[in-house]
Amino acid sequence: MKRIYLDYAATTPTRPEVVKAMLPYFTDAFGNPSAIHSYGQEAKGAVEEARVKVADLIGARDEEIVFTSGGTEADNFAIKGVAYGKESKGNHIITSSIEHHAVIEACKFLERRGFNITYLPVDAYGLVAPDDVRKTITDKTILISVMHANNEMGTIEPIAEIGRIAKEAEIHFHTDAVQTAGHVPVDVDELGVDLLSMSAHKLYGPKGVGALYIRKGTKLVSFMHGGGQERRRRASTENVPGIVGFGKAVELAKQEMNEEAERLSYLRDQLIKSLLERIDRICLNGHPTSRLPNNVNVSIDFVEGESMCLNLDLEGICASTGSACSSASLEPSHILLAMGLSHEQAHGSLRFTLGRWTTEEELARVLDVLPQIVTKLRAMSPLLKSRR
Ligand SMILES: *Cc1c(COP(=O)(O)O)cnc(C)c1O
Repeated sequence: MKRIYLDYAATTPTRPEVVKAMLPYFTDAFGNPSAIHSYGQEAKGAVEEARVKVADLIGARDEEIVFTSGGTEADNFAIKGVAYGKESKGNHIITSSIEHHAVIEACKFLERRGFNITYLPVDAYGLVAPDDVRKTITDKTILISVMHANNEMGTIEPIAEIGRIAKEAEIHFHTDAVQTAGHVPVDVDELGVDLLSMSAHKLYGPKGVGALYIRKGTKLVSFMHGGGQERRRRASTENVPGIVGFGKAVELAKQEMNEEAERLSYLRDQLIKSLLERIDRICLNGHPTSRLPNNVNVSIDFVEGESMCLNLDLEGICASTGSACSSASLEPSHILLAMGLSHEQAHGSLRFTLGRWTTEEELARVLDVLPQIVTKLRAMSPLLKSRR
């Protein structure tokens, strides 16, 4: 059976062009960029070339980019780095209640160590209100961190507005742009951010590499101590093949982004419309228009997201859910709950994230299969019986 992958927000396949660009750096050009001989300089040159490409994608200068082991490290670096870099000024951090775990857990870690964290609420569409940010700022606030777009329900946040508030108050502003960089336009000056996280494997690059943009003059401490790599900001021998792949992926994304976003938005809207037509007691999660071009997230009453995912998988369709019945935690997605969904609605969520290889035929197959799965599951549903 030909499988249909609709989980591009979780990870993307590495593009063949990217793999091809990476391969020489495992073998012939294997040098350590810190070495002064020709092998070293060859590797160093490749890393710096990639840095220019990554900086160019987001309107930054190359010396403002630090390569990391991924989006999680970039988020941790930004949050803990500012927290401990600005400790003498204050201990208050403002974030939202819908951040990725990499941000939420870094904040919880700091909370246990005496920092004071505000987790801003969101509205029913998952939007943070810039005015809430403004009202929450105190003279102890050292950092604001709000994601650019949410990985689960796709809402794009009003980052530029929050950026203006942060700038006025002279508070460092971080955004997790892992879901947007390479997919929709991202410009650090237009957004008004001082720190921005990216990850290669969410934009058709390899896993295990990402970057943190650090605006010149932003005060943060490093927490990888060792050699002097990355301008002393992040020790450890550079992941040269990974960084080269990241650079290539970013270069391709920049060229194709607008056209691809348009194609995906069309497919997204068609899929949403058809799902709402063909299934009853279903609703769209997230914002209808301020939304990632590739994200479709719905809640379907009286069915478990996990059962739907497993049944779709049997049909060769790979999707995801905000439900977490069989995982270690029984709590459904904190993101859907923050938007005001009930536990039942959050457990009935289903996410399809589209990508470069998604076709209309694939989505037609989803529309064929899913209504039948829902009918079957509802027929066995204790949730439904208890309401009759
Ligand atoms: C995937 C993701 C991350 C984590 O990135 P990794 O490179 O997998 O560590 C962080 N934030 C968001 C919004 C993501 O989607």
